[in-house]
Amino acid sequence: MDAAVFSSRPYDRDALTACLRERAGADDLELHFYDAPLSAETVNLVARDTAACVFVNDRVDAGVIEHLAERGCPGVVTRSAGFNHIDLDAAQRHDLPVLRVPAYGPHGVAEHALALMMTLNRRTHRAYNRVREGNFRLDGLMGFQMHGKTVGVVGTGLIGAAVCRVLRGMGCAVLAYDTLPNPELESIGVAYCSLPELWPRCRVVTLHCPLNQHTHHLVDSETIAQMPNDAMLINTSRGGLVDTGAAYVALRQRRLGALGIDVYEEEEGLFFEDGSDDGLTDDLLARLVALPNVLITGHQAFFTREAIDNIAEATIENLRLLSDDEPVATDHPHRVHR
Ligand code: NAD
Repeated sequence: MDAAVFSSRPYDRDALTACLRERAGADDLELHFYDAPLSAETVNLVARDTAACVFVNDRVDAGVIEHLAERGCPGVVTRSAGFNHIDLDAAQRHDLPVLRVPAYGPHGVAEHALALMMTLNRRTHRAYNRVREGNFRLDGLMGFQMHGKTVGVVGTGLIGAAVCRVLRGMGCAVLAYDTLPNPELESIGVAYCSLPELWPRCRVVTLHCPLNQHTHHLVDSETIAQMPNDAMLINTSRGGLVDTGAAYVALRQRRLGALGIDVYEEEEGLFFEDGSDDGLTDDLLARLVALPNVLITGHQAFFTREAIDNIAEATIENLRLLSDDEPVATDHPHRVHR
């Protein structure tokens, strides 16, 4: 079977090729790499009977799915845990299996959320620039002790649970919200509560739930109004969870203390690309980066050696599943359903 691998960067190509080389029984799999994302404009690159392998900012909407199905595509494999970029209804209508990588490295993402939190808190990003200029003054660099503070964790799946454990180790009180509470976290002192209870009680809130119709703009002007004015908001999950415009206004009006984001609602076409010749073309992003209490990374929370290798391995396994004569079992743990 052939697979068209979209949004592939050199590190994806190297890891997938190495994995394919090492894996017995996968020699009939041929990968075709494309830098471009999969979209209505690029779907023609997928030849007949070829699987589509995508990443987080590819647009696998109903039109693209229809096109793939017409060409006998055996399925869509995403090199991510999140799958909000794929129209699952359309995939189901066309009986097109969608496979993902559910757990390639939750600790790495959790650690990045902590890195954003601690950098913003202790202003190490500002200290780095000051010291390079020979400025050793401390004004404006005062942080707060995490030990004893209350941190809110929204979504306590694999990543959120890892965040909870680190925070508990740091001596933080952890308040959590999830539609499905995890008793194991309760046993280490994590207290579940409702969202209206969580917002006003937390010095820091970090988001780890998926983006769907229930969680779109989970944090908006109304929720920000319920948080303390010095609250820090961290989002390493998906950009659409936060109304970024509302967060910007709240930061300017000092109704939100700090914002650390690895994901952005308008990141498609912007993140994972080098736009340095044009500067920041997104006005809201440009206004956000100008604020000293904002820290933005370009969807790199997942990006560790371990994660890239695990993603490659699971992706080759998923493509191999699609190439089997047997249909992929509906209860396969990598298969995504509505
Ligand atoms: P997971 O499926 O293990 O956990 C998600 C948790 O969210 C589950 O416990 C689920 O019950 C909970 N949840 C569902 N709906 C909710 C709601 N309305 N309110 C509160 N909680 C809700 O997923 P994960 O592996 O922990 O990943 C979490 C998210 O992180 C993913 O959806 C993905 O979008 C994002 N992610 C980002 C990166 C990155 O590089 N920035 C990398 C991996 C994952």
